[in-house]
Amino acid sequence: MVNNNTVPGHKPVVETFELLESQVRSYSRNFPAIFNKAKGVQLEGEDGSKYLDFLMGCSTLNYGHNHPVLKDALVDYITDDGVTHSMDMHSDAKERFLFEFHETVLKPRNLDYVLQFPGPTGANAVEAALKLARKVTGRTNVISFTNGFHGVTLGALAATGNEHHRGGAGIDLGGVTRMPYDGYMGADIDTADYLDKVLSDPSSGIDAPAAVIVETVQGEGGLNVASNEWLRKVARITRKHGAMFIVDDIQAGIGRCGSFFSFEAAGVKPDIVTLAKSLSGYGLPMALVLINREYDEWLPGEHNGTFRGNCHAFVTARAALEHFWRDRKGFEATIARSAAQLEQGLRSIASKAGSSKLVLKGRGMMRGLEMPSGKFAAAVIKKCFQNGLIIESAGPNDEIVKCLAPLTITSEEMQSGLDILGKAVAATAAEHERAAA
Ligand SMILES: *Cc1c(COP(=O)(O)O)cnc(C)c1O
Repeated sequence: MVNNNTVPGHKPVVETFELLESQVRSYSRNFPAIFNKAKGVQLEGEDGSKYLDFLMGCSTLNYGHNHPVLKDALVDYITDDGVTHSMDMHSDAKERFLFEFHETVLKPRNLDYVLQFPGPTGANAVEAALKLARKVTGRTNVISFTNGFHGVTLGALAATGNEHHRGGAGIDLGGVTRMPYDGYMGADIDTADYLDKVLSDPSSGIDAPAAVIVETVQGEGGLNVASNEWLRKVARITRKHGAMFIVDDIQAGIGRCGSFFSFEAAGVKPDIVTLAKSLSGYGLPMALVLINREYDEWLPGEHNGTFRGNCHAFVTARAALEHFWRDRKGFEATIARSAAQLEQGLRSIASKAGSSKLVLKGRGMMRGLEMPSGKFAAAVIKKCFQNGLIIESAGPNDEIVKCLAPLTITSEEMQSGLDILGKAVAATAAEHERAAA
């Protein structure tokens, strides 16, 4: 079986993965198909079955699968023998990306960041951000928040809350103090005040931090949303105590929450921003650390990595900025329309769930429904898959069904996905009521 893929007519089978791939595989367990084609919101199985993709690489494919404009740019670049890999030597692909990023993203928002290209994953960006903050401040402690997710390499994992992921470390995870996220203690308690209090008290036992790292909407943590006011307050408190304010915009950024950066509505200017997932726009690995120019204290090569210059990703990332973000207002309006449809659709699904109480979570195109339990959510996800919708869960008990449809989705496609989700929720709620009776 292992060798017959060299034989013409080899047909891929799920058993190959079961035999040869580590138990660590995860998403494939919920969606046991073999996919071979993708276009826009659609994924196709090799048996010809079609699926709407509301997982989208966990917000890695905000412009959909294989967007034609990005694909053409990439194909042209490859056909012309453009440089694929150049360590961090200058390439025209990188120059064009830097130039476009400055013109289209930084300049109009009045942001004076320098760009660091770490290794190509989100965790690489977080590691670099935390290292730099520690270096600049000479402090070791980092504040992160309950239910935060920042990646699974050891430095980033220390800042991540999830017990299952932390359990994989096999070593003490240090150097991070957890604080309650906005709303964690209920609506009446302002957790930013608590942060200020413990950082102001020399005997609180919380060491002065190098950085405070935060997601504006917690992607893996369950679509918890920080209010604009809370974010502004946390940014103020962070600076008051001499720490770097880091926004991890890896999942919530690149349009997912309605604007290029998720923190634009709050009007904060982080000292450091991490980006990855949808940055290349095509699913190609690419990560970026934006650093306030004042704090760019890196020595040459002090933090390095072999894959710091994925030229193919530079090409598609630049094409995406050009195509979608040069007309910022136009694209923001498109996202807002889809987000409104999504919100309305999810509200309607929740209102028809009978005695099962569902709660709307998230903001923008990063929305979901909190189900009564993880088991309930798993049943919903399974029914969705059987009916042609790929959708995943998040949250401490995987109880939040999370919609990460592409930002470019049409209203018909959105409605089709919502219809499948609605039927799956209604059927699961009915099963629950029968079981309870
Ligand atoms: C996905 C994610 C990461 C980690 O990115 P990887 O590419 O998986 O290493 C970090 N922070 C946030 C907010 C994420 O959603």
